[in-house]
Amino acid sequence: MIYALRCNVGHMVDLTQLASNLGVSEGILLIIAAVAIVLGITLAFIGKKLWKRIMSMIGGLLGASLGFVIGLSLGGELAALILTVIGGILGSLLFAKIVEVALAILCGALAFGVVFLLTGSLLAGGIIAVVAFVICFLFVEKVVGILMAIAGALLAGVGLMLLGLGTELAAIVSLVIMVAGAIVQTLFIPDKKKKTAMAPACKNCPGTMVRDAATGGWYCPNCGAIEPVEPTS
Ligand SMILES: [Zn+2]
Repeated sequence: MIYALRCNVGHMVDLTQLASNLGVSEGILLIIAAVAIVLGITLAFIGKKLWKRIMSMIGGLLGASLGFVIGLSLGGELAALILTVIGGILGSLLFAKIVEVALAILCGALAFGVVFLLTGSLLAGGIIAVVAFVICFLFVEKVVGILMAIAGALLAGVGLMLLGLGTELAAIVSLVIMVAGAIVQTLFIPDKKKKTAMAPACKNCPGTMVRDAATGGWYCPNCGAIEPVEPTS
């Protein structure tokens, strides 16, 4: 497929030619293109909201298959069955966190690479790497939003090319989706972490409550009202 696309760089992708190269009918190619465009645009604009669910699905599948293989090698079918269930649950619970940490490590490694290449200093690279890791981890939802916008826009661009749009035009549309998606996801979709940490307004006066470190609940510096710890997270 990459070969077929590369042959057509700079002008329209010949659908009939591509379909016969891939050994599928044009109809199927059109369906794939439509799915790629819809999925790509969805990911580009609201991928951040779906990301946890996608990651826990992938993690569940990985954990289940790992559990199955380990169980089978340990003690036959029953062990495999039990470990598949346990692995699936653990995988879906942990994977999103693991990927968040992995993303932050990747940010740190990239920052280290760039700084080390520019300055040749291990120390400077190391310091920047730690800073990049922390920033990336704190703002992981923003990073995910931007990554989703890039991935979704590329997917939609490939779909548009398959539909017969010229490569330049597909690239331009893809770039527009990428920028718009990144803006929407970073500025207009609130981060989950921020939402839960947002301070409530005081019920007795116009003041805003602050966290009381001693009790973990809310406290109004204006009138002294106290709000106990909320039951949900
Ligand atoms: Zn108050």
